Amino acid sequence: MLNFERVKERHAPPEERVKSFEIEPVLGYTDEEGVSEASRCIGCNICTQACPASLDIGGYIRSAAVGDPAGTVKIVFENLPFPAIIGRVCTHFCEDICVLYDTGGPIAIRHLKRYAADKFADYGKVLNLPKKNFIDKHVSIIGAGPSGLTAAYYLSIQGVRVTIYESLPELGGFMLVGIPRYRLPKEVLDKEIGFIISQGVEVHTNTVVGKDIPFAEIMDKSDAVYMSVGTHKPRMTGTPGSNTSGLYHATEFLRRVSLGEKIDVGENVVVVGGGFTANDSSRTSLRLGAKNVYILYRRRDIDRPGYPSMNAEEEMDESLEEGVHYLWEVTPFEYVSTDGKISAVKYWHNQMIIEGGGRAKPIPQKDKVEIIPCDTVIEATGQETDYSFMGDDYLRQLRLTPQGHVIVDRNGMTSIPKLFSGGDSTNSSKDLISAVRDADTAVMGILEHLNVMDQITDDKLLPVLDRWKKYSPSAGKRMG
Ligand code: SF4
Repeated sequence: MLNFERVKERHAPPEERVKSFEIEPVLGYTDEEGVSEASRCIGCNICTQACPASLDIGGYIRSAAVGDPAGTVKIVFENLPFPAIIGRVCTHFCEDICVLYDTGGPIAIRHLKRYAADKFADYGKVLNLPKKNFIDKHVSIIGAGPSGLTAAYYLSIQGVRVTIYESLPELGGFMLVGIPRYRLPKEVLDKEIGFIISQGVEVHTNTVVGKDIPFAEIMDKSDAVYMSVGTHKPRMTGTPGSNTSGLYHATEFLRRVSLGEKIDVGENVVVVGGGFTANDSSRTSLRLGAKNVYILYRRRDIDRPGYPSMNAEEEMDESLEEGVHYLWEVTPFEYVSTDGKISAVKYWHNQMIIEGGGRAKPIPQKDKVEIIPCDTVIEATGQETDYSFMGDDYLRQLRLTPQGHVIVDRNGMTSIPKLFSGGDSTNSSKDLISAVRDADTAVMGILEHLNVMDQITDDKLLPVLDRWKKYSPSAGKRMG
């Protein structure tokens, strides 16, 4: 019988999962569920146009539908070297435009990627990569987040010698320290990052460029450099009363918890901000033992970052199930301390003013002061890139947008010759799959810059850019 309804993902009970970093909120599909869900796909590949990394979604869903998850993994690897990670945490805008959205629900694209990837402990056996000949070229990568690791994989399987410099003690960047373990288990990170590094990548962890090794030295000894440094510098609000203990920025808070620290958040936690990081900070606080967690956001729920999208709805649904409270349209204006430790947040309610066609503007109504007692405040209010590691000479040559993003050409090269850049420091999307796309672009740009296209191991192993240009609009068949 034809099944038109999406096979629902099963969830761990909220009252259990909220006690542990080890329990994933969403459980993986069984074989029966995976094949049944994949079989709904009509292979039109409209969704590929919403995928920044241009994955052949119709192709890999079809492989899952015919009981060939290895085929799914192979197709994903054409553009993306970590299907199990992205299969858990992708923003999956592809599902928002799936043609079946109103016909039983969009195909569970993200979840099917996870389903296939989780079946294999060793991708080497699935991919059977040809033996490579190292070519006499060396690329350095600064930052081992999703973008740096993607570049490392596609360059090294072509025989380019790759060295990664990472300031943290472990690899993964934002995937390691920005996404909590209950959403992205350590063993999943280890499996996929381990496979990338096993391609012959040289790794220097605990190495701060600009301190442990000069940026200029890396530039001098490399044929090209890929800079994927992310945005790890907190942007604090500077709210009066900030000079106190018990106040964290989400970037620091999530990093410390991800690296194993058990922060005592007390019973009551206030999170300032309305995006995905605010949700992650809230749910992390619950798992650290908080009883009451409040998210304070100055705009309406429909104005929150990432909305409207399935991803934003799913994240908020899961947070609500776990007991997070949302206070919309409020402005925190003072942190109150007792004995040098934060003890309350004062806030005003906002009136939202809509002028012209623009975004509604929050105007604090200062006639009434509200106060919320708390033991910890976490500001999830954005972060930026610190480029000071480059040194003044290089920094003067680096062109940035007014928002502080690195400007690159269509090959991913910056205003400094042989320096390429990608990921959160460079694109404004600031999601994992866009960071992967930046790396795919830069890999092609670097190989062309190195003038080694005639020496590469196998051009079928090059990332595919703008795949949608190769598709017939109606058939969804894989072409040329
Ligand atoms: S849009 Fe994508 S997932 Fe949806 S039916 Fe078409 S190919 Fe399948």
